Amino acid sequence: MLGRLCRWIRILGFSAEYVSGGDDDRIIAEKAESSGLILVTRDVLLSARVKDSLLIHSLEIDGQLTEFMKRFHPVDSLMFTRCTVCNSHLRRVSTTDPALKLPPMIRDRFREVEWCNRCSKAYWEGTHYEQMKRKISMILESEHANP
Ligand SMILES: [Zn+2]
Repeated sequence: MLGRLCRWIRILGFSAEYVSGGDDDRIIAEKAESSGLILVTRDVLLSARVKDSLLIHSLEIDGQLTEFMKRFHPVDSLMFTRCTVCNSHLRRVSTTDPALKLPPMIRDRFREVEWCNRCSKAYWEGTHYEQMKRKISMILESEHANP
């Protein structure tokens, strides 16, 4: 199950669809090939069926993210531009908009947040954001150290 990696791929700014393990391999393979999407999977047999696929070996999220980023280099300007829940593009909105129903602490601290129209979910540059940025930087640095 690569649900967590899927969310990270979206954090990096890539479009990612999550397909549950219960779906038929043949349907997943057909969907990947007809959509032009790249299949990211831990399933060796499924990976072999799809021409454009990335086989993930690691069981841990850091290792999975490293394997992904070795093939797909993130672009700074695209990071944090997608909703991690639904994959939609986020838009920057003012925290003064009363329709957003943000916690007062967020309104006090930030003038703008990134907003998902589909999920009505707000993203702001808090400590969680800083931790994610740090993790991405550490992986990129370790890649340069061990190409
Ligand atoms: Zn969303």
